[in-house]
Amino acid sequence: MLTILTSLRWQDFLDILIVAYLIYRVILLIRGTRAVQMLIGIAVLIVIYFAARELEFLTLYWLLSTFLSSIFLIIIIIFQRDIRRALAQFGRTPFGKSSEETTQILTEVTTAAFLLSRERIGGLIVIERETGLKDFLELGHRLDSLISHQLLFSLFLQDSPLHDGAVIIKDQRIVAAGCVLPLTKNPYISKHLGTRHRAAIGISEETDAVVVVISEETGHVSLAQHGALTLDLDEKGLKSRLDAIFLPKEYISPKIWKNWLNR
Ligand code: ATP
Ligand code: MG
Repeated sequence: MLTILTSLRWQDFLDILIVAYLIYRVILLIRGTRAVQMLIGIAVLIVIYFAARELEFLTLYWLLSTFLSSIFLIIIIIFQRDIRRALAQFGRTPFGKSSEETTQILTEVTTAAFLLSRERIGGLIVIERETGLKDFLELGHRLDSLISHQLLFSLFLQDSPLHDGAVIIKDQRIVAAGCVLPLTKNPYISKHLGTRHRAAIGISEETDAVVVVISEETGHVSLAQHGALTLDLDEKGLKSRLDAIFLPKEYISPKIWKNWLNR
């Protein structure tokens, strides 16, 4: 053991570290996806392969060894979407997307918020950041859909069975609707704010999520972050705040200059 350790070069340490990091990233990427079941399936086949070899089940062994000899190709074909996603994640923004796609998502959220506001429909949109929100999905209805202002708007319509509670956005998708959030216990919150606003503040205290709240009573659109609520924003105000939170600074500054020059 000691001889192995002493014969290790610095390159080996670095090599092991890089491979460990890559494995860690792959696990993070596929966690909670269909890919996990597929990997388990492949692992089972490998176990059967070794068992067939030991027990000399020649036909089964031949079949599996033919299959497993092209396993790399098979993995690439099965996981091509995930591999593409992983490669695209270099230089990613919090949504795991390019800045253009992120700003598009934020525009959809903002548009939906003000459509709801104009119609005096209450809404609660939670955008996940680093802290996972799995616990809060449980009581809600799981979804997995692309983000559009039309869909966000219709989820909160009175007649929608999912309109009660919060919609949760994770990465670039709507992952749940009708979710129940923890209410803030902060005694200094205005008595005029009801449970919808208290739920927005509550989740922003417990996690780093950012929450857009649309008041049914007043039509006001507000933003909760880090336990604080910025009340009654206009459309530009909401979008620029969301941009500032989710977009890299290098992306926002040139845009500000461009807008200024265009004026
Ligand atoms: P509004 O200004 O829209 O009236 P409000 O802050 O006064 O909002 P309520 O009038 O109490 O709040 O709004 C009730 C609605 O808020 C519920 O129908 C439900 O959709 C949502 N809501 C209440 N509590 C929660 C919670 N814990 N988690 C998620 N949504 C909640
Ligand atoms: Mg109310």
